[in-house]
Amino acid sequence: MGVFDPIIELSKGLGETLRSFLREPTVTYQYPEEKRPVSPRFRGRHVLKRYDNGLEKCIGCSLCAAACPADAIFVEASENTDEKRFSPGERYASTYEINMLRCIYCGFCEDACPTEAIVLGDNYELSFTDRRQAIYGKDMLLEPVASESMLTPRKVEAGVYTRSVPEMKDSTD
Ligand code: SF4
Ligand code: SF4
Repeated sequence: MGVFDPIIELSKGLGETLRSFLREPTVTYQYPEEKRPVSPRFRGRHVLKRYDNGLEKCIGCSLCAAACPADAIFVEASENTDEKRFSPGERYASTYEINMLRCIYCGFCEDACPTEAIVLGDNYELSFTDRRQAIYGKDMLLEPVASESMLTPRKVEAGVYTRSVPEMKDSTD
């Protein structure tokens, strides 16, 4: 090895750094002001969805909890009435909790849900300072409503919301 070889190699390395600095786009995101876009298939923090009229899609059936390989979901169901209705059909989830420390974001809960109530969204901002805070309750998971009149529970017309699972528009779907 010649005496100038290390200097030549170092110059090549620095040249490569300079080339990428001048020619390649910046990939640093100024998080948290600027959020990195995620792929359409990304599975992030769960959301409990509502119908357009504000009623909760979750019917407290616990299929998501049964499908969860990490035993991260706890569901407790109670009875709906037309005076105090949370969701269509007989029952709603009076307790719905996900332990985010256990969750492995596999999406099995989403696949198992008959009403498409639980969805893994694009939010990756999860932080907690103790184990208790890692258990996300229904108040944190439920989708917000556009107006107060859409909040649940609420009084509805008797005998309208009798089906727990909506009729399929396309039976081959
Ligand atoms: S994403 Fe997977 S691990 Fe997480 S709660 Fe759903 S089924 Fe359980
Ligand atoms: S999220 Fe879906 S699967 Fe889970 S309890 Fe609610 S309706 Fe059933």
